[in-house]
Amino acid sequence: MMCVICRRDARGYGFAPRYIREEAPDSKQCSRRCQNITARLKGMIDPNKHETNALAAASMSAGAYVEEIGKTDLASWSEQEWATLIDVAVTAFQDFLRQAYADDPPF
Ligand SMILES: [Zn+2]
Repeated sequence: MMCVICRRDARGYGFAPRYIREEAPDSKQCSRRCQNITARLKGMIDPNKHETNALAAASMSAGAYVEEIGKTDLASWSEQEWATLIDVAVTAFQDFLRQAYADDPPF
């Protein structure tokens, strides 16, 4: 189960919108920080501007990594190169989201 905010492993935190009389699915989070963000969103986790921008940031970082290794034929990539690409993209996505919610709380 993944955290609905940052997509890391959920670690025992949750949010049930029905308890505040909101129509949204129950969700899991990784931390009090992400649980608080979910509460401020009242459980509504449809893609928002921060998530869209986080994907763009992840794409830019992944593209920079591909340029750095200089190989565009994915079939020629080593397992380590592929794992690094995924790590670069996911880390950029998570970092962007955390900063965006810190700078622009959704309430
Ligand atoms: Zn989280």
